[in-house]
Amino acid sequence: VAKEQGASSYHFFSQTLEDSLNEKMYLENGLRNALHDEEFFLVYQPLVSPASGKTTGIETLIRWRHPKSGIISPDKFIPLAETSGLIVDIDLWVLREACRQAKDWQDRGFPKIPMSVNLSAKQFYRTGLFEDIRTILEETGLNAHYLNLEITESVFIKHMDPVIDTLTQLRNMGIQISIDDFGTGYSSLSQLQRLPISVVKLDRTFIQDVEQSEMKSSVVKAVIELAHSMGLKVVAEGIETEQERNFFTRLACDELQGFYFSKPLEASLFEQYLIIEYR
Ligand code: C2E
Ligand code: MG
Ligand code: MG
Ligand code: MG
Repeated sequence: VAKEQGASSYHFFSQTLEDSLNEKMYLENGLRNALHDEEFFLVYQPLVSPASGKTTGIETLIRWRHPKSGIISPDKFIPLAETSGLIVDIDLWVLREACRQAKDWQDRGFPKIPMSVNLSAKQFYRTGLFEDIRTILEETGLNAHYLNLEITESVFIKHMDPVIDTLTQLRNMGIQISIDDFGTGYSSLSQLQRLPISVVKLDRTFIQDVEQSEMKSSVVKAVIELAHSMGLKVVAEGIETEQERNFFTRLACDELQGFYFSKPLEASLFEQYLIIEYR
């Protein structure tokens, strides 16, 4: 019986592995034409002021409307886009579309607040990133001060110096840089000190159950204090409950983001959200 079970569970395992490889190939094939076929769209999530809950920033997040499989989340396809190199053009499309949308909202009288865009680490392993971003700002007419680029610590794994050079060029132009998912990588805040960044976004794993764990809450407190002492703003991502909101408000986080305030919304719904808020 044991032998039989062993065989069948092995079969089960290989089946699943095969399925996931097939799924990968299926998605990767679809990705190749997705930009050209206009299958991507953007959603927007507010970053809010802790005390008032008013929107002080916007993060744009990509979605893929797959013709057969429906809406696919970036966690599923961004890694594939990175290994295949398609990420470079996808990110530039997102950047252009987000800047265009931000400028449009400004022109139509919505509050002037920064638009955050995620950039893959892969963007920094090529030349021309700075010029591409400058061109997009010129073409869309968005002032650089309203653009915030979110990068993860993995950007700094190799070739630290060229990356710092590019970030410095971007910063000198007026663009803000945030470290996203802080706490999930290997680096410490003191290592961030030499980087031209202005915001640290605490990963959701720091936020979850923070009040149940004394260890976690003291780490979080220390990180926020240290970041502030370095002149960095701190954003807590993934705020889902009122308790979490209160906790991070007490710790003097500069901005909060999460489903508690709003899920990411398509442009027209995000407009409604802003209209109701500012009425
Ligand atoms: P991220 O940049 O850290 O974005 C935050 C993620 O957390 C988003 O997932 C957002 O929908 C989700 N989130 C926000 N509030 C909450 C909350 O209260 N609870 C929970 N459980 N989740 C929350 P999303 O949109 O699925 O994006 C996942 C990741 O994909 C992003 O993480 C980012 O790393 C990447 N990504 C998204 N758009 C782009 C893009 O245009 N370019 C690149 N390179 N990466 C992108
Ligand atoms: Mg982000
Ligand atoms: Mg994040
Ligand atoms: Mg993330």
